[in-house]
Amino acid sequence: MDSISTSSNGKASYNYIENIKNPCWFCGSEMIWGCDFDYEDYGLEGDGIVATLSCSGCEAYAEFYSKPKEEQ
Ligand SMILES: [Zn+2]
Repeated sequence: MDSISTSSNGKASYNYIENIKNPCWFCGSEMIWGCDFDYEDYGLEGDGIVATLSCSGCEAYAEFYSKPKEEQ
C-alpha cells in the first residue's frame, strides 16, 4: 500500500495527512506531544489533564484540555 505520496505542488496529499495522528492546524505537520499536566498545575478547578503539543513543522504550540469530570 503506497499511502504516502506527494503532489506536484509539493504539498502532502490527503492520504498522507490522514496518516498523521495529530496534524498541526496551521501547516499539517505532526504535532509532537510534550507533556501532560494536571488541572491543578494550571490552577484550574476540577480533575482534568492538560496535554501540551508543539508542531514539528512550524513550531506552533497547542494545549489540549480534557473535559473536567463533573462530580455530583
Ligand atoms: Zn505546524
